[in-house]
Amino acid sequence: MSNPSPLLEIVDLVRYFPLRNAFGRRVAWLRAVDGVSLSVWPGETLGLVGESGCGKSTLGKTAMGIYTPTAGDIRFAGREIGHLPTRERRRVAKDLQYVYQDPGASLDPRWKIVHSLHEPLKIHTTLSRTEREREVGAILSAVGFPVAHLDLYPHELSGGQQRRVGLARILTLRPRLVILDEPTSGLDVSVQASVLKLFRSLQRTFALTYVFISHDLSVVRAMCARIAVMYLGKIVELGETAAVFEDPRHPYTQSLLAAVPRIGGRRVAFDFTLEGEPPNPRALPSGCRFRTRCPLAQDVCAAEEPPLRELDGRRVACHLA
Ligand code: SF4
Repeated sequence: MSNPSPLLEIVDLVRYFPLRNAFGRRVAWLRAVDGVSLSVWPGETLGLVGESGCGKSTLGKTAMGIYTPTAGDIRFAGREIGHLPTRERRRVAKDLQYVYQDPGASLDPRWKIVHSLHEPLKIHTTLSRTEREREVGAILSAVGFPVAHLDLYPHELSGGQQRRVGLARILTLRPRLVILDEPTSGLDVSVQASVLKLFRSLQRTFALTYVFISHDLSVVRAMCARIAVMYLGKIVELGETAAVFEDPRHPYTQSLLAAVPRIGGRRVAFDFTLEGEPPNPRALPSGCRFRTRCPLAQDVCAAEEPPLRELDGRRVACHLA
């Protein structure tokens, strides 16, 4: 990396949610994110993958400030932001934006598009009306939305156009880091390709850094230089995407990648399909959380939790890797 300082640095981040009984009494904790550390470098796209419920969205939302961390640190551009008072946190909030699956869905149906796009600029900047119009025009051109449609309401746009306006609204705040949560989910393959192309082009135009949350490993392989694989609140493997896809070292990563078509028909060396559901989050297994589904599990896996350790230029949490 040419820039030695990460834009986002997460250190031992923990986010638990209380699990309550019918009387509202807390009976356990859901350990959604349980001691995650990672860095995101300026200009990169980091993929965050894992099964539904593995904690990837909770990690993104906690990094964003949508959830308060239970413990751990979040540093953005060198500044600790995880425990700031609300007012100060709001000030940095515009630099980090969270994009839900369909950013167009967050548009107010009662507002014309022009109103939706000017509103964030009125709140967060001191730009004059003319300057706002110039800014909105530049962003609309970048997302490929015709300025002639500014006086329409969201329901008058196609789903694709709504997405573009939703993205434009986020970009008016000129964020530095954007967390994209399942941004291609539910799209057919041809639309998916154009959406990915748009993300790449916006990244170049606005010097964006992305965290790309997805369960679609083919999309992650196409978009991300690095990938972090999560299982039950922990990162189990983190490394360069090409290296991880070529030679996954954690059995969970191997099982995920076994389901992805290989370029040239090659399969991963250890090719098995993941069986069973993740364990009950109220009663996580001792030691390695993956051991109840891992065909390689040994006694040590129940006795000791494997640390995420350096291994050939990546990090892997497995006793046998
Ligand atoms: Fe499997 Fe043991 Fe490695 Fe966990 S530590 S992934 S149970 S081999």
